[in-house]
Amino acid sequence: MNTFQEHDCEESVVEYVSTPEKPYRYTGSGLGNVYLVGVKYWVCAFCKKQAADIPSLNLLLRSIARTIVEKNSPLVGEQVRYLRKRLERPSKEFAALIGMTAERYCTIESSGNPLYEGRDKLIRLVYRALSRDKKLKEALSNEQQIEMWLLSLHSRGNSESIVGTWLGNRKIWRVEAALAACA
Ligand SMILES: [Zn+2]
Repeated sequence: MNTFQEHDCEESVVEYVSTPEKPYRYTGSGLGNVYLVGVKYWVCAFCKKQAADIPSLNLLLRSIARTIVEKNSPLVGEQVRYLRKRLERPSKEFAALIGMTAERYCTIESSGNPLYEGRDKLIRLVYRALSRDKKLKEALSNEQQIEMWLLSLHSRGNSESIVGTWLGNRKIWRVEAALAACA
C-alpha cells in the first residue's frame, strides 16, 4: 500500500546526460516535440518522475521560438500558443492582432492540425515584429531575406521535432527543426 508515497524521490534518482540517441523530452516547454541534448537529468527509479537541469533557460526559450518562426513546415496550435506566450499577450489580444475572434482563435491553439498558410505567415510576421529577439526583428528591414523566408514557409511536411543541443563549452544552445521524429 502507498508504495509510491513511501519513497523519497531524491534518494532514488539515477542521473543521466541526454545524448542525440537518447535526448531529454522537454515537456516543460509546453510543446510536445522539443528534445534536449547535453543536459543533465534525473529519473526516480520508483515513480519515473523526471527533472532536468537546463542551463540558460531564457536563451533556450528564445531559440525555440526563433526555430518555430523560421522552420519550413506549417505551424500547429501548440506552437502558436508558444509564440503568443513569448510575446506575453493574452489570447484575446493576440486574436485581435491577427483579425480573429477570441473563440475562433482558441480553437486554433488547441488544434493539432497545420494552420492555413496565410494565417500561419501572418502569425510569424507578427512575432517577428513584436518580439524582443533582435535577430528576428532586424531581418524585417532586409527585404530580400524576408521575401525568401516568406516563400520558404509551408514548403515541407509537418512531422518534425525541435532539437536543442547545449554546447557547454561555448555556453550556447543550438536549436534546430529536425525532420525525423525522435523516439
Ligand atoms: Zn519517485
